[in-house]
Amino acid sequence: MKIILTGDRPTGKLHLGHYVGSLRERVRLQNSGEYDKIFIMIADAQALTDHAGTPAAVRENIFQVALDYLSVGLDPAKSTIFIQSQIPALFELTAYYMNIVTVSRLERNPTVKAEIAQKNFETSIPAGFLCYPVSQAADITAFDANIVPVGEDQAPMLEQTREIVRKMNELYGEVLVEPSIYLSSNETCRRLPGIDGKAKMSKTLGNCIYLSDDKDTVAAKVKEMYTDPLHIKVSDPGHVEGNVVFTYLDAFCEDKKTVAELKEHYQRGGLGDVKVKKFLLEVLEEILAPIRQRRAEYEAKPEEVMKILERGTQDANAKASEVLRRVKHGMHIDYFGSR
Ligand code: ATP
Ligand code: MG
Repeated sequence: MKIILTGDRPTGKLHLGHYVGSLRERVRLQNSGEYDKIFIMIADAQALTDHAGTPAAVRENIFQVALDYLSVGLDPAKSTIFIQSQIPALFELTAYYMNIVTVSRLERNPTVKAEIAQKNFETSIPAGFLCYPVSQAADITAFDANIVPVGEDQAPMLEQTREIVRKMNELYGEVLVEPSIYLSSNETCRRLPGIDGKAKMSKTLGNCIYLSDDKDTVAAKVKEMYTDPLHIKVSDPGHVEGNVVFTYLDAFCEDKKTVAELKEHYQRGGLGDVKVKKFLLEVLEEILAPIRQRRAEYEAKPEEVMKILERGTQDANAKASEVLRRVKHGMHIDYFGSR
């Protein structure tokens, strides 16, 4: 069986980083027909680990993320889209996995470490936040997923999940499936920088182009994009490394030959930022215009979107309950037969 599990936190609308890091691959894998089952999770419980005070925003963002999914081409007939908090098995599994993970191992997790610094938690780290890698292990293993398409920042999470799987299987027999990470083959796409040149486009950093931005907003963001601070006059030779406009061309433009020519011209001198940005805007619009249009169609029928989530959640619940039963059997805690 080839089973995919992946997802996003409903902490905001989805952006171009999500698109190249994970969404675009998901749609491709979905349409390849090579996978037996694809589970796409809206991780509201995980969002609450660092947004406990704003549950209404998390709820609204569930709808926004669902719109983003449907507008990029995730198809509910082929992919099961569901809401994490509605799957009780995930929380039971998390509780059991917690017993085989040490606090120091969680504190060493590089992604958790970086996020704690970024969020200024200092010593007031919510326990749920520190433990979210464990709940992520539950999310992945509850569906017997063996392939997890995500951005590079998730690599330490996958590593930790694999450790948990090995330990569980060692203690309780072959109860869990060990997953592998699936990273984009295009290196630029594994961690897309923000429009400000910072290492990662991220909702939290406010340096995003959203899939739902209108054309004028995208144009304004491209205009303010970080380029080469040493490239002042058009005739100056410019740098393409660290120049976000070229990074985005690497990530989004299919016409690699034109990108190579533009780079060469820019480095030689005589090519202005305005021209390259105009080309990038055209490339982005080619991708974003159809997404925007599909988004508007689904936005007009919210009941249908909620129905898709409800059906997906039912389907996911059935699978996760089955896996939980298997785990509890392995753990000798199935006292009253199979429930
Ligand atoms: P938050 O700041 O709330 O954590 P986020 O922008 O990091 O939001 P997530 O929901 O945590 O988004 O990530 C969802 C998925 O998108 C993950 O697989 C993550 O690796 C991927 N992803 C997020 N940002 C990028 C990026 N800039 N480049 C590539 N992949 C990304
Ligand atoms: Mg994140």
